[in-house]
Amino acid sequence: MLKITALNAYYDNIHALKNIDLEIQEGEIVSLIGSNGAGKTSTLSCIMGLLRAQSGSIIYKGRDISASSPDKLVGEGISLSPEGREVFPGLTVEENLRLGMYSRRDRLHKSRDPFSRVHELFPRLKERKAQAAGTLSGGEQQMLAIGRALMSDPQLLLLDEPSMGLAPNLVLLIFELIKEINRQGVTILLVEQNANMALRLSGRAYVLETGRIALSGASKDLLTDDAIRKAYLGNH
Ligand code: ATP
Repeated sequence: MLKITALNAYYDNIHALKNIDLEIQEGEIVSLIGSNGAGKTSTLSCIMGLLRAQSGSIIYKGRDISASSPDKLVGEGISLSPEGREVFPGLTVEENLRLGMYSRRDRLHKSRDPFSRVHELFPRLKERKAQAAGTLSGGEQQMLAIGRALMSDPQLLLLDEPSMGLAPNLVLLIFELIKEINRQGVTILLVEQNANMALRLSGRAYVLETGRIALSGASKDLLTDDAIRKAYLGNH
């Protein structure tokens, strides 16, 4: 579904991504782990067209998308739930969700009702649909960010730190829901600081270190890898 080859990206003179190679097959959950500033968000930004690659290719379903705009990519089935949620606090839950389907509004009448799917996954969002998003709890705002990303009926969903700042029971719930979204046929690239949970959920994973892919492989192998345990899993 997605093949990134020799991707390099910069912020002025900061070389954020250095020759990244990464592949995702249809139906997979792939996690991308690494410490602060390793380049996880930048990788998602490049895929989504928010950060321009300086060199390399990003092939999505056979076509190089490295020069495509974010709105076009949403129309083609890629969607991002961004780090820090980025909900519009003054808009209602329903208005936030509606914004997620904006670039696919022409074709949505042909597919399943996007609201009912999101409401089924996140009943709390249905209960709170008239409430301002800024008044939701952190967990609810995370549900809203993921729900909004689903409104465009994506085939590839990019999730940036969905567990950030959430209580442990909510983290478990969010991960269960990610699994369910994947069961519904959505391919997922999951960026996480919570390496332990991410590796338990995903089939394969990549480890980023200072802008480079340091390791990749089956998540179950990375979970037992000594270097990974020491660096990301608290060595226990
Ligand atoms: P975190 O989990 O802290 O978000 P990350 O792995 O997602 O980390 P990135 O946010 O992709 O890392 O950052 C990669 C590098 O690019 C870092 O050195 C960071 O300081 C730099 N960087 C990220 N965003 C910008 C920006 N808007 N302007 C300048 N430098 C940036």
